[in-house]
Amino acid sequence: VKRYARVGLAIFAALALLMIGRAARLSSKQPAVAALADPPLDADGVARILGKAIERPTISESPTSLAPAAELEGLRAHLAASFPKVHATLQREVVGDSLLFTWKGASARKPIILCAHQDVVPIEPGTEGKWRKPPFSGAIEDGFVWGRGAVDDKGSLVAILAAVESLLAEGFSPERTVLLAFGHDEEVSGKTGAAKIVDLFAARGIAAEAVLDEGNPMVSGIVPNVKAPVAPIGVAEKGYFTVRLSVDMPGGHSSTPAAESSVSVLLAALARIRAAPIPARLDGATAAFFDWLTPEMPFGPRLALANTWLTWPLVRRSFARSAALDASLRTTTALTVVKAGVKDNVVPRTAEALINFRVLPGDTTAAIQAHLVRAIGDARVTLTPLEASRAEPTAVSRSDSRFFHAIATAVREVFPGTIVAPALFLGATDGRQYARVAEDVYRFQPILMTSEDLPRIHGTDERVAIRSLGDAVRFYRRFLRLAAKD
Ligand SMILES: [Zn+2]
Repeated sequence: VKRYARVGLAIFAALALLMIGRAARLSSKQPAVAALADPPLDADGVARILGKAIERPTISESPTSLAPAAELEGLRAHLAASFPKVHATLQREVVGDSLLFTWKGASARKPIILCAHQDVVPIEPGTEGKWRKPPFSGAIEDGFVWGRGAVDDKGSLVAILAAVESLLAEGFSPERTVLLAFGHDEEVSGKTGAAKIVDLFAARGIAAEAVLDEGNPMVSGIVPNVKAPVAPIGVAEKGYFTVRLSVDMPGGHSSTPAAESSVSVLLAALARIRAAPIPARLDGATAAFFDWLTPEMPFGPRLALANTWLTWPLVRRSFARSAALDASLRTTTALTVVKAGVKDNVVPRTAEALINFRVLPGDTTAAIQAHLVRAIGDARVTLTPLEASRAEPTAVSRSDSRFFHAIATAVREVFPGTIVAPALFLGATDGRQYARVAEDVYRFQPILMTSEDLPRIHGTDERVAIRSLGDAVRFYRRFLRLAAKD
């Protein structure tokens, strides 16, 4: 027994040393930079331009009810009046109702693309009166620009154009060609906007080095064990897939119900799906996220995260407590619609449910479908994929590319102390369309948000601080200077 104890102790000590060694060896991946000395910037002027842009209700209601052409035209005219140097120097094309600017560089190297979108989501009916400022007022008060699109994504649209305008005023010209692509239907699909611009690029033989589109904002107080603000630069996007389950069985009078009904069969199937979630795993963009963040953490969490080969079950359980972290680790399963029955004394013939999956890069919609068939194991349940919804996850873009480094460097220069990291983007953007013509696609919003700010996007009281807007302009200026180099 004594000998076993000694061997046990030796193994434990070796493991502990190995773990501590791994944690201690981690070194920071953050680019070392000095804070940027930048000429003063008229953030109030940019805020006024954004306010006027918000006044145009360029609402995408649905794929068949796009933003009104007159409002988009009004927005374009406002941009032309506000950014005269951009419009005098860059080549401007209107593609459908989307906007494409070409800023020609002398270099023959691949161009770079910056994206934003002109459309916004509707105001949820019944919440109009809850806004502190009317949603399309573009009011400037208390240091904020208020209204739908202040962040998503007229904030980016105006900040990118303001950055180019100010660079032009300084006589800057890019070495590489810079393309600015501003879609008009991002919120409902991108099919008549970004997709058409990408078709145009493909027809012209344009292959870009990389794309920077909207995406994850910088966050403060959200990533556990990291005190500093974090800039999670989206390097991949999840896929999207919705499946309909339906059961059709004899109904009848509720006074003499059969042992089983369409409803009970459906409920049993849903319970089995719930009991067999698609497994979590730490790889791809999320693994890269923690590779970059772990060295910045205190020793305890660093020890756990540097040794996930051993601690993974514990780490996974602790991540599961945050819906966003959990969603970064797995294909999520969300039951979104359940329908059956019309009357309290009739057993319904049919019952149906919709389940929405957000597909982790590495998983496929076909594999999910197979998983569902196995989990349900009941031929009475008909499974129908909603084909129009099917979108596979994107590839994972590189976090060691020159372009990624330019984003990371600009973040660290403009927002000193911020920790940058590649990350998975949990939403959907026009960015996915550009994979056809670009080596890498990055999704990032240079605006700092707290957990209190996040629900404002697509929600009530969307706003952006004038200071944040000014910093976003400074970010795009710096990024362009770095990324447009030969
Ligand atoms: Zn958006």
